[in-house]
Amino acid sequence: MKSTIIIGGGIVGLFSAYFLQKEGVEVTIIDRTDLKDNCSTGNAGMIVPSHIIPLAAPGMITKGISWMFSSKSPFYIHPRLDYKLLQWCLLFFKSANQKQVEKAIPFLKNLSLLSKALYLNFKDEHPEAHLALQEKGLMMIYQTEAVEKEEVEFAHLARKYGLEAEVLTPSDIRNVESNLEVMAKGAVLFPGDAHLDPGALYSFLKMYLEEKGVQFLANTQVLGFEKSGGKVSHVLTDKGSIPAEKILLCGGSWSGELAKMLGFSLPMMGGKGYSFLQENKPEIKHASILTEMKVAVSPYGQQIRFGGTMEIAGTNQSINMNRVKGIFESINRYYPDFQAEFPKEENIWKGLRPCSPDGLPYIGFAPVYSNVLVGSGHSMMGISLAPATGKLLAELHQQKDNSIEIGGFEVGRFN
Ligand SMILES: Cc1cc2nc3c(=O)[nH]c(=O)nc-3n(C[C@H](O)[C@H](O)[C@H](O)COP(=O)(O)OP(=O)(O)OC[C@H]3O[C@@H](n4cnc5c(N)ncnc54)[C@H](O)[C@@H]3O)c2cc1C
Repeated sequence: MKSTIIIGGGIVGLFSAYFLQKEGVEVTIIDRTDLKDNCSTGNAGMIVPSHIIPLAAPGMITKGISWMFSSKSPFYIHPRLDYKLLQWCLLFFKSANQKQVEKAIPFLKNLSLLSKALYLNFKDEHPEAHLALQEKGLMMIYQTEAVEKEEVEFAHLARKYGLEAEVLTPSDIRNVESNLEVMAKGAVLFPGDAHLDPGALYSFLKMYLEEKGVQFLANTQVLGFEKSGGKVSHVLTDKGSIPAEKILLCGGSWSGELAKMLGFSLPMMGGKGYSFLQENKPEIKHASILTEMKVAVSPYGQQIRFGGTMEIAGTNQSINMNRVKGIFESINRYYPDFQAEFPKEENIWKGLRPCSPDGLPYIGFAPVYSNVLVGSGHSMMGISLAPATGKLLAELHQQKDNSIEIGGFEVGRFN
């Protein structure tokens, strides 16, 4: 019996399955891991309609170059002679200009707002999910004048696009974080942002989909495809060949390799990041980004997660302790009284963000094949954007009109 095959059981694959099963589609998810740990499980869990500017933005090139010389910096590209990396960097540089950013903003904003609305529906529909979803907003905390200027300018831009943004003084920050000192020149608060526990979301979704009859083929690696007449007929795996009605390619940082097997180009690099949980003492109450260091702070009551660093590393998954130290040292730089403890290596989580070179996801039909869809390349916003991506893919799958305009996410834009 042929079903729709989703390759990749990360959050994008799971939300796609969620919306497809609602349409009565028979779905099988294939993943080469045991589906216990991937980029979707230990990230900072932020839902960020405020993030309307893609990673490939004008300021990133100068900043990126200066960060290349520090082993603890928040962004780093592993310099090496690798054609894929050179091609990706070239496309990144080409995209990092004002014109492209302005083109991208409405697409990202609408995708984010759709996703946030879907999360709120999801929370109401599944009160049993215990997502730890907190709709308190996100504070972008800064310490330097240079970053203050950027953040305040960004707040104006966000308002221009209809998003709420408030500039906070140190005394406003003290009112929000009343338990401990925050070393800050100020902050921008985006009240429309939220955060949740990504591990809880992931486990719930997986269990729910299993109950709804979605088939999971774990520990199964996709190695190739059988094609005929502009369609893919079978997915070839290390466990055998599986017939497919339609295919959704949601392979995260490995989606470029899967696209290559199908003969089209999907430029993608893994952006490695780390996180660790700590006892939340004294309690930090508000989700924040420590802006100079790009460290995400996600409190969950008695526990708190710190995450950060973007190391363009292909698909290398080793842990670079210097970068973890960079995240760790940021904690007391901003919260001097927080009782931070350096995590043991086994407690450090790592994930590869699937980064497209222009910072926009790929959502839509693959070039050439009429039965292959792609949902990937969400970079640092995969949790935030997964519900909307899943919904849009389900709509395309069912030949329904899309909820929002998706032209900016065209899969074949680099072919
Ligand atoms: C430190 C850190 C913090 C982050 N914080 C946030 C945040 O606050 N908010 C936010 O929105 N996002 C955040 N992100 C980004 C987010 O985690 C990712 O964008 C998201 O998890 C990507 O999901 P995915 O489903 O595309 O990929 P993945 O979760 O990587 O899933 C892809 C799956 O495909 C499988 N696969 C690949 N190739 C094959 C194959 N050939 N055969 C079978 N299976 C295959 C893999 O095994 C994997 O399980 C963060 C990331 C990091 C690293």
